[in-house]
This record gives sequence, C-alpha cells and structure tokens, in this order.
Amino acid sequence: MEQVKPEITAVLKEKRKNREVRFMFKVNENYLKLPGSYLFSTIGKKVAAYQAANPDRQIIRLGIGDVTQPLAPAIIDSLHKAVDEMSHAETFRGYAPDLGYEFLRSAIARNDYQDRGADIAEDEIFVSDGAKSDSGNIQEIFSLDNKIAVCDPVYPVYVDSNVMAGRTGSYDARTQTWSDVIYMPCTADNGFSPEIPKETPDLIYLCFPNNPTGATITKDQLQVWVDYANRVGAVIIYDAAYEAYISEEHVPHTIFECQGARTCAIELKSFSKNAGFTGVRLSYTVIPKDLKCGDTALHSLWARRHGTKYNGAPYIIQRAGEAVYSPEGKEQLKEQVAYYMNNARVIYEGLQEAGYTVSGGVNAPYIWLKTPAGMSSWEFFDYLLENANVVGTPGSGFGPSGEGYFRLTAFGSYENTVTALERIKKL
Ligand SMILES: *Cc1c(COP(=O)(O)O)cnc(C)c1O
Repeated sequence: MEQVKPEITAVLKEKRKNREVRFMFKVNENYLKLPGSYLFSTIGKKVAAYQAANPDRQIIRLGIGDVTQPLAPAIIDSLHKAVDEMSHAETFRGYAPDLGYEFLRSAIARNDYQDRGADIAEDEIFVSDGAKSDSGNIQEIFSLDNKIAVCDPVYPVYVDSNVMAGRTGSYDARTQTWSDVIYMPCTADNGFSPEIPKETPDLIYLCFPNNPTGATITKDQLQVWVDYANRVGAVIIYDAAYEAYISEEHVPHTIFECQGARTCAIELKSFSKNAGFTGVRLSYTVIPKDLKCGDTALHSLWARRHGTKYNGAPYIIQRAGEAVYSPEGKEQLKEQVAYYMNNARVIYEGLQEAGYTVSGGVNAPYIWLKTPAGMSSWEFFDYLLENANVVGTPGSGFGPSGEGYFRLTAFGSYENTVTALERIKKL
C-alpha cells in the first residue's frame, strides 16, 4: 500500500468533515464483467405475460430443475426425532463439527464409496449445505493462474464463480465465451460427451449424469479423463448430483470407481435431487488425501477453508441425511427416483413418437431435444408456450452449443407430464 503523508490525511479528514470529498470504496470489478443471466427471469416474464393474456389456459411447467415430491417418510421421521432432541438439555446440540458429524460421514463413506469398491475414507468427506455453494467455492483453493475447462452447454455456476474470482479473462458477447476459459463442446456429434481439449487445462469441470443434456459417460470414458488428468497434472472437479438416476450398468456412480482418481479428482454430491433436499439443504465434497500439489494436500486447504468460513450443516439436517442411507430410506427413495424416471420415459417416448430427435432421460431426469425445423431455442420456447402451453428451458441459456436444443425435466407430476406430452403430440 502507498504511504499517505500525515499532513495529507489531516487535510483530507478536514475536507471530509466539511463534505468536500467523499472517500469512495471500490467493488470487486470482476462482478461487473458477468453478463446478465436472464434465462430464468426471461422465462418467468414470458410465462407471466402469456398467462395474463390467456387466463383460462392451464400452463404446465417442465422447465425448472427442482423436485416436487414430498420428503420420504423415513426422512420426515428422522427430522421429527432430531427436532425433539433439540428440546432437551441432555440431547441438545450446538455447533456441528466443521466437517460434518461422524454418523453421516461414515454412512456416506460406506454406502456411496466402500460398498461400490471405491477407496474413500470418512475423513475425506466434507459435509456441506449444497453442491451449488461447494462448486462455486472450490475454485478458491486454486491459484488464479489456473485455467479452467468446462463443457458447453454447462451448469453456469462453474464459470460464473471463476469469473467472480478473476480467472476467466474477458467476455466476448458475440461468441458468448470467455477468453481464458477452455470450452469443450458437447454436441450430437460426440454424443454430448466432451473430448479431451487441445489446450491443456489445470481444472476440468465435469458433471455426469449431465445437467442440462441428461447425457452420461461410461466408466471407460471417465477412466480416459482420469488418466489424462494424472498425465498433465490437472484436477477434475466431478459433479455427481444426479448419480441416483443412473439406470445403466456401465455408467460410473462415482469418479472414484476409476483407477488413479485419488490423485486427480474432487467429487461433489448433493442430497437435493436424490432425496428431494432442495429446500432442506445438504451435500458433501470428497477430497482424497492423495490429491496433492507438491507437498500440499488439497484436503488440508479445503479443511482450512471449511473451518474458517463455514460452521457446519445443521444437526437436524444431517440426521435427515443419515436417514437417506437407512433400509427404509433407501427403499422409499428408490421409488421416488423411479417416479421421476417414469416421467422421463413418458417425455422421451412421447417426443420420439411426435418425431423429435431426443437424448438423455435414461440415466438423468433431463430430456434434451433438438428443436424442429431449424427453430432457435427461444423460438421453440415461444412456440411451445403458445401452442401447447408447456414451459421448458431454451438450450442456448446453458452455452452457445446449446443453441437449437431445448431441455424438459421429469420433475413434474405424472399427470401433468402425460398431459403435456399429449398436447405436444397434437402440434
Ligand atoms: C441441482 C444441481 C446441483 C445441486 O445443488 P444443491 O446446491 O446441492 O441444491 C449441483 N449441480 C448441478 C449440476 C445441479 O443441477
């Protein structure tokens, strides 16, 4: 910092007292570089305007990525019990351990990793309040010099959190890309699965099963990424938020099924989509102790970050999370996922019958369709809203390679999903 001479300070103080000058704070200008995210607000405005002009029409929303089924009974029981515990001095709990309660971390390690043959210990699991916050925060344990690679289309948090940190260079509104980000297009040509980029990244964000395309990656394909990351010294940040929707044998449930992932991967998992916790808030991040830059373990940095900036997920919510792994919880959640995936089948088959080119929907609650007759994503949005009174999400909102595509979600009710598809078939 520049030294300010005492006499200047005194003069400024005097002027300030007389309101002749204002000392102005400065903002993090990286925030100003962010292009407005108009996607969901534009959708909201268009739908509201259409509804106001056509009050008698029943609009069906298959656009949002939010669950609609109530919490499973086993989870509700566990919540009630934990609330009661908080009402007695003997069982009351204050601050939770920074990294999560042992009962939850051991249930996660056993059920999500060790039972699948993945070598992850409970002290490599960090319990948190959301995969959105963790996926946005994880970048801060890396140098600003690191270059990120993302899929296109992409879950916007990965890019925007790096923009806020100042890691992405400048934005080109024409191409909708950042100068210092490596984009990996996911298109029909590559089965919506990214190829190894020409330029070598330091951090690689992957999300499978994918939001928004609903595509997945086989274990052999993921192994190629793990081998690549170990070879070039990159870290893969693997978002497995939709793991519970996997129905096919060859699709990995965790990146730690792959050989060598312990030295190159971080995994993010959420209770939001597998157990309906979008409004309850619970997630975890796995950082193996073997993941190191020289002598520095990323595990220690994230532990330090967690300890300094986070005071632990609520006891009550962690008990609800524990119930996800109980025999009753597992059974009930299998049914809940099956309910949504039946909707996915209705959408997928209905669109196919209507002549659309469709993908996703088999290992993910998202169906990705090609817009017909060369319509843009937004043209198809308007067409579907006005003619079928069905709301979806324009693919272009997730990145330039999403143009010409459209996302429908399986998170609605069965009845609404069936009605929506009947209307689409009649178009
Ligand atoms: C929904 C979603 C999450 C989950 O976020 P939470 O903060 O845990 O609710 C994470 N990643 C992706 C890609 C998602 O779609």
